[in-house]
Amino acid sequence: MDTTLHALSARLRARQATAVSLATEHLERIGAAAPLNAFLHVDADLTLAQAREADRRLAAGDPSPLLGLPVAHKDIFVTRGWRSTAGSRMLEHYTSPFDAAVVERLAAAGMVCLGKLNCDEFAMGSSNENSAFGAVRNPRDPARIPGGSSGGSAAAVAAGLVPAATGTDTGGSLRQPASMCGITAIKPTYGRVSRYGMIAFASSLDQGGPMAHTAEDCALLLDVLCGFDARDSTSIEDIPADKAHIWRGFQAENAANASPGKEFAGLTLGVPREFLADGVAPEVRAAVERAIAAMVARGARRVDISLPRTALSIPAYYVIAPAEASSNLSRFDGVRYGHRAADFRDLNDMIERTRAEGFGREVKRRILTGAYVLSHGYYDAYYLQAQRVRRLIAEDFQAAFRQCDLIVGPVAPTTAWKAGEKSADPVAMYLEDIFTLGVSLAGLPGLSVPCAVDAGALPVGLQVIGNYFDEARMLAVAHRYQRLAEAGS
Ligand code: GLN
Repeated sequence: MDTTLHALSARLRARQATAVSLATEHLERIGAAAPLNAFLHVDADLTLAQAREADRRLAAGDPSPLLGLPVAHKDIFVTRGWRSTAGSRMLEHYTSPFDAAVVERLAAAGMVCLGKLNCDEFAMGSSNENSAFGAVRNPRDPARIPGGSSGGSAAAVAAGLVPAATGTDTGGSLRQPASMCGITAIKPTYGRVSRYGMIAFASSLDQGGPMAHTAEDCALLLDVLCGFDARDSTSIEDIPADKAHIWRGFQAENAANASPGKEFAGLTLGVPREFLADGVAPEVRAAVERAIAAMVARGARRVDISLPRTALSIPAYYVIAPAEASSNLSRFDGVRYGHRAADFRDLNDMIERTRAEGFGREVKRRILTGAYVLSHGYYDAYYLQAQRVRRLIAEDFQAAFRQCDLIVGPVAPTTAWKAGEKSADPVAMYLEDIFTLGVSLAGLPGLSVPCAVDAGALPVGLQVIGNYFDEARMLAVAHRYQRLAEAGS
């Protein structure tokens, strides 16, 4: 595929392109794709300044693999220069005095930022219809949603506007839009990628990660994104030595599994029966079964497993995430940053009007739910209970990993739905998250790799879930699967 980071890097190194020419080419495509509404801010001057600097480093022989390649950031990561809105009116005119850790790391690797990507307001949503700046469209079918909340990121990569993007996943927002747009994305183990400068939604769940066309590109990006950061209090310092290096681990895994026809030998794949039950669209189920069969034909062993509390992940998540959101979003009070109502009587009135004007419907719904489940008298019944369920869900995954190396299944029960179809029914929307929430609650890594298209040519993603810190192996398995799928077998 000539739109991958891998291919673009080869063009740069062969001097068939420069960082400036790549940036210009992609900025033109972004301009032409305005109806997708994937980008919220571009600033050609800022981009070209970074590209010129990358060209200087390239000319000086800097071997950094990502040097000069374009990237764009979900607008939940703060950036110096470009505005940082989190898809909210509340932050419509906000510019940050510093870069998020994720932005900093990719910039230090020499990537050239093309701008900021649309997303659901404060990353709350599954369809990218909750952005204050308009819905994002799915490039595979503009009448449909791209998935959410990193819908702008997924749509931009799928449409070729940028070869890679960042996203965040609190309950599925890297994996689900990747699945619906036909690209690859990985949500790392909680604590591997710094949350510094990532506008908070639910801090015990939020995790940033890469989105690109291939698992190989995601491995390159994740290698740079991972790392301890003292500015994030939940950043993990002690990664087991054999799991510390993503790119090295990825290459070693692939080298050890290169014999043709036996690419998955020795690998046990667990298939949770709850992930293929009624309620999953027949075409999604069939696509996932075919993907598993292709790996079994090349040496993998399949075991049927159970994640018995899968259904409970929805109520548990939709108590815990709003509870944390209600606390995190209390900072938007019209005093410290962001929007402030123009007319008000006194301080309370100012805060009330500011929040009424600045937040959208879904964000208000989450704040109300969160305040309710944390309030005296309901805390034990809802919040504490949800935390207990969260622990049991994490234990179910550990029991499963005693039977298998990786867990595989669908990312979402359906392919991309029509815009507006679920907007009036929040519960129907929340049900779409059933296969991604458990992974987030347990803090595990999960990825989505394209495995088929349905009869309407809409992409289906295969989810691969690993145990803590197993990202390199997951990406390597996804890479070898992608190779097979490319070869058409
Ligand atoms: N769809 C889920 C929600 O609305 C997950 C969002 C996310 O991962 N940011 O909360």
